Amino acid sequence: MKRTIAIAKGDGIGPEIMDATLSILKAADCPLIYEEVLIGEQAYLSGNTSGIGSEAWDIMRKHRILLKAPITTPQGGGYKSLNVTLRKSMGLFANVRPCVSYVPFVDSKHPNMDMVIVRENEEDLYAGIEHQQTDDVVQCLKLISAQGSEKIIRYAFEYARAYGRKKVTCLSKDNIMKQTDGLFHRIFDEVSQEYPEIENSHMIIDIGAARVADTPEIFDVIVTPNLYGDIISDIAAQISGSVGIAGSANIGQDFAMFEAIHGSAPDISGKDIANPSGLLHGAIQMLVHCGFTSHAETIFNAWLCALESGIHTADIYREGQSKKKVGTKEFAEVIIAHLGKKPSQLKPAQLNENVSIHVTHTPIKKKNKQLLGVDVFVDASDCTADELAVDLQKSNTTMSLNMITNRGVKVWPQGFPETFCTNHWRCRFLFDDAAANSKKELIVLLDQLTDLGIDVIKTENLYSFDGKLGFSLGQGQ
Ligand code: NAD
Repeated sequence: MKRTIAIAKGDGIGPEIMDATLSILKAADCPLIYEEVLIGEQAYLSGNTSGIGSEAWDIMRKHRILLKAPITTPQGGGYKSLNVTLRKSMGLFANVRPCVSYVPFVDSKHPNMDMVIVRENEEDLYAGIEHQQTDDVVQCLKLISAQGSEKIIRYAFEYARAYGRKKVTCLSKDNIMKQTDGLFHRIFDEVSQEYPEIENSHMIIDIGAARVADTPEIFDVIVTPNLYGDIISDIAAQISGSVGIAGSANIGQDFAMFEAIHGSAPDISGKDIANPSGLLHGAIQMLVHCGFTSHAETIFNAWLCALESGIHTADIYREGQSKKKVGTKEFAEVIIAHLGKKPSQLKPAQLNENVSIHVTHTPIKKKNKQLLGVDVFVDASDCTADELAVDLQKSNTTMSLNMITNRGVKVWPQGFPETFCTNHWRCRFLFDDAAANSKKELIVLLDQLTDLGIDVIKTENLYSFDGKLGFSLGQGQ
């Protein structure tokens, strides 16, 4: 049975690589019907700040699958990233980016590289919640949820199981961010126990990224929060040979979007020189997702044959190694000419039929949540921590000042004179008797501090959950 999908031709090289990709899908007799949606630059410039209009939303919702060419985000403020909007609005929690090298037909220092990066797609610093709080300090909230972490980690293990992968490596920075990345790592440790046949390991993101760049062959599947995944998947695609060859799947519970990992490449747009392979790989992931695995395999093998033929687009063409440099259209024709053939040197594609991956998360257990105090953030200039402490201690509530930090470092009591301080102070008040806590007392404290002329810019309540502290200590505390 034929399946209708939404397609977006995008901007820059988008229409060229989409036409090339569709010509290959048609030549391979893929049972697809296409309905085009207009998103991107045109939608932005017609006044839609997220680059997508209501008609496009309706079509995408109807078909639940979008094959999307890259779009150009106009320069200047006020425009929201269309990709982030699509991922978050449609619940596309998993971004799956296979990065493979095709040596000797595509130059790479890493002939044995074959990794899949499973990047969390909705949370982390990409929540986009930012505030300016003082003249010189801004903040961005990093939000990590237990549900979001469990879903992406389960997805990575289910993916490894479905595709016969042997190892899943978690990358995080939980040595520093013990609450946020700590939660992600802890859930990874728990979920990995349910997959005893799959090896698991954890690396701190800094050494992990260094190893991705230096010895990518040691990785199989990587699972990581949003920002780290964004960065390492570009590193991985680049070192595999060209940013023009990797595809990406954005998977949600009942909606999925497939694309190339690269952008709209305005520098080469309209010249018929772009490599269509990235979008084609996105389309191959889409065919597998739709259950058209044999079509996906036929196209993948024809693409491998095209690489072996030495007829290459400019980004992968190498003097003395490649045989002929061709444009976008001609490269697509070379792939079409190889449909039905298998590569003789590169490993032929063998795609697994069993690809339907549905993940859920465990219902969150209600914990015993106890209010212990409050961090009051204060904008104060031309004062020392000791002077600020004297003012704060003029308040008279059932809470006492416990510490002051500046950019996370304890500066009262007993700070170091060398510590550089901004005008952004965190002042921690704890209930003298935690059992007698009262939320109203927080309001009394804020009222008194305001009367004392202290500029309170925000507060964070301090809780314990089942007796475990739910907040970080000050550095040096
Ligand atoms: P880019 O990926 O478009 O280009 C980076 C470099 O790679 C350029 O030199 C380009 O010529 C080359 N390149 C990219 N794709 C290629 C291909 N298929 N074949 C040959 N060479 C290729 O990144 P950029 O220049 O930073 O961004 C351009 C625009 O794309 C921006 O507006 C950006 O916001 C947008 N963008 C969109 C997406 C998306 O829609 N998924 C992703 C990234 C960037």
